[in-house]
This record gives sequence, structure tokens and C-alpha cells, in this order.
Amino acid sequence: MRAFVAEKNGDGVERGLRDDFPMDGLGEGDVLVRVAFSSVNYKDALATIPKGQVARISPLIPGIDLAGTDEDSGEELLAHGYELGVSHHGGYAEYAKVRSDWVVPLPDGLSARQAMAIGTAGYTAARCVIALENAGLRPESGPVLVTGAGGGVGSTAVDILAARGYEVVAATGKDPEFVRALGAAEVISREEAAGDAGRPLEKSRWAGAVDCVGGDVLAGVLRSLRYGGAVAACGNAGGVKLPTTVLPFILRGVSLLGVDSVQTPIAERTETWRRLATDLRPPHLEEAIAREIELDGLEDALSAILRGELAGRTIVRVGG
Ligand code: NDP
Repeated sequence: MRAFVAEKNGDGVERGLRDDFPMDGLGEGDVLVRVAFSSVNYKDALATIPKGQVARISPLIPGIDLAGTDEDSGEELLAHGYELGVSHHGGYAEYAKVRSDWVVPLPDGLSARQAMAIGTAGYTAARCVIALENAGLRPESGPVLVTGAGGGVGSTAVDILAARGYEVVAATGKDPEFVRALGAAEVISREEAAGDAGRPLEKSRWAGAVDCVGGDVLAGVLRSLRYGGAVAACGNAGGVKLPTTVLPFILRGVSLLGVDSVQTPIAERTETWRRLATDLRPPHLEEAIAREIELDGLEDALSAILRGELAGRTIVRVGG
């Protein structure tokens, strides 16, 4: 079968499309999936570079998410996270073998293509919104900042939040019109989101925030949250360090909410996907698809996302 493969070679990694990947090399799993669509996430690119610290097997078929059909039952399904595209072959191939307890039935109202336009990125954005609302955030609470808003997680978070009636402020280094079209009321620069690192606290601005960037930007967000505000932190595109003091926590009672998409228990994951097809559905799914590629377009797309050049979502048509 056709598969895009990353394989260690000395200190490097060779990656490319192969026509002859053996079906019996797909690994353990009780569900054989004919893959219709996958998508391109930052982590997929990390799985194909020597210092990416994502790939746990070699060779590896990357692709941390996929949607397709169960070859046996004909049921349409999606799967993402857990070991997929990391220590188990992922979605960048005509077939994948997955464990049945990783599988989410494709929710009513979403096609396989739409599910991968959402993908891991949109799922993560939804988990951030759920975390903030569980912490009490409501549209009337005040403006909500989204950092890394031009990327996959950020752009979907803008879309979901705006559709739910929030006043969304998008921090991006990319084209402001892209995030405005998704519903951002205001666009600020990355630098403005990072603020002034020399100050212990800054003007109270955000009732809530979704942070895809980490590092100085997340520290700046913490200094600018309103009293009792919360930030859902899901990313590290700008660094893994968090240079903060305790002051935002002890003087403004703010909360730092961690969001992980990989290990969410399957029942919660299935429920989140049901909501992604209904009340958390991003209305601009089509507009957020910046590129639709096939397996032979992965080489370019993976390089581009590492350079921070991909806006919105890139989906991969495998057999759909
Ligand atoms: P993208 O590359 O699509 O988006 C990341 C965005 O971050 C970029 O578009 C850019 O936004 C911004 N950015 C990149 N580099 C910098 C920098 N040096 N300083 C400030 N901003 C920067 O990736 P995804 O949306 O797929 O993922 C976003 C983050 O979330 C990644 O770190 C990823 O690893 C993480 N992630 C975590 C998950 C989890 O389970 N916790 C699941 C999925 C993703 P702009 O140009 O708009 O400023």
C-alpha cells in the first residue's frame, strides 16, 4: 500500500512516499481502517525530524489523526492521539490498524473530510473551550484572547468562541484578515500579547484565554488576565519555559488550566466529538482549510508547518 514513511538513518531521518509498504507491517490493532482523510499538525512535522522527540518507532507512518471506514463493519470512524503517529503507525497511509478503544464513531453531521478539517487541532481547541467554560467563563465575562491564532488550534478556537458569542481578540503574526474572517473582533501582535516581561502584573484585560504558544507569551497572558480569569494552555509553539511569578495567581486569583488531547479517556473524547458536530461546531470549517493535499504533498506541507508558514488547517486526502 501507499504510505508516507519517516525512517531514521544515522543521525538523520529520511522521509518520503513509498508504494510498497507491507500491509502486515501496520502493527497491532483489531480495527483495519481504510483511511479517507488525515491532517497536518505541528506534531506530525516533529515526528519526521531528528530532534523532534515525537517518533518512538522507526520506520514510522506519521499522522496523529485519521478518519475513514472500518474495513469489516463499514462503519465510518475517526481516531487520533494515544499512540497514533508516535509509537504506532498513523494516518498517512491507505490503511491503518487501530485499537477498538481508540475509535470514535464519526458523529452525525460530520463527513470524514470535515472531521479532519477539525482534526487534532480543532479537538484541542474544543477541549480548551470546555476547560474555560468549566472554570466559569461565559460570553458576558469579557474579552477572550487566543494566541497563535493563525495556526490550526488557534484558528479553530477563534471560530468556536466567536460562534458561541464571545468577544475574541486574536494574537497573530500572520494575516489579520484570516482571523477576522473567522470571527475575531480585534487582532493584536504577538509582541502585544507577550507584553512587558519586566512588570509583575499588567493591565487587566482578558476574562479568559486560549494559549497555543507558551513561553513569554503565556507569561504575558497570565500577567494580563482579569481578576478570577483563566487561561487554557495547550501549546509550546513559542517555547516550553514559563517565566512567570506567582503574583497573577495570588493577587488576581487567576487559573492556569492544562489541556492535553492525547490521553483523554475515550468516553470524554467521544462526547467532545459529539459537541464538535453540534454546539461546539466551528462554523467556518471550509474557510479554515488552507490547503487540501494528497500523500505526495506531505513533504512540502511538513516543512512549511515547521517554518510556521501554514495558516489554518491542511488536510490530507488519502482515499476519500
Ligand atoms: P501551528 O503551527 O498550526 O500553530 C502554531 C502557531 O503558533 C503558529 O501559527 C503561530 O501563530 C504561533 N507561533 C509559532 N511560533 C511562534 C513563536 N516563536 N512565537 C509566538 N508565536 C508563535 O500548530 P498547531 O495549531 O497544530 O499547534 C499549536 C500548538 O499546540 C503546538 O505547540 C502544538 O504542539 C500544540 N498542540 C498541543 C496539543 C495538546 O494535546 N496539548 C494538541 C495539538 C497541538 P501566528 O502566526 O498566528 O502568530
